Amino acid sequence: NKEHQVDVQDSIHSTLILLGHKFRHKQIVVEKRFTPELPRLTTSATGLSQVWTNLLDNAIDASPDGGKIVVRTWVERNQVCVGVSDTGPGIPPEHRERIFEPFFTTKPAGVGTGLGLDITYRIVAGSYHGQIEFTSEPGNTEFIVRLPISE
Ligand code: ADP
Ligand code: MG
Repeated sequence: NKEHQVDVQDSIHSTLILLGHKFRHKQIVVEKRFTPELPRLTTSATGLSQVWTNLLDNAIDASPDGGKIVVRTWVERNQVCVGVSDTGPGIPPEHRERIFEPFFTTKPAGVGTGLGLDITYRIVAGSYHGQIEFTSEPGNTEFIVRLPISE
């Protein structure tokens, strides 16, 4: 795969547009806190929009009607960082070790496959050599993705 330049904020922006109907359906307010002039990534990896889709789908599922989802970006050392947070119930301590496992889901059969975070982890860590982590308490969960700008 050939190296190319990726504008992370463009890729998030497109995903937000694609998911627009889901936000409207639950009257969720989306707040973008983007950093001006975020550096582009130089990478041969692909699949970044799948990462935003999976994290935002989970945030939407977790959100109450009228909830708020914040997508923020910043730069830290040699990394572009993205946070996706929601105002849902949070991830209970007993599930925290398991959410990245394939087929782990707390959603009804037919709704959740339990593959979203497994795929997300593999794209972030395996393809982009980045990291993904989360913080969670009732009313506030945030997934943070860190992507190296260049290697
Ligand atoms: P699925 O969405 O199909 O259940 P995922 O791999 O995307 O599978 O997520 C696995 C599980 O992690 C979810 O079923 C849910 O229990 C938990 N989870 C993921 N994101 C959130 C979130 N933002 N808030 C609360 N729980 C979450
Ligand atoms: Mg999911």
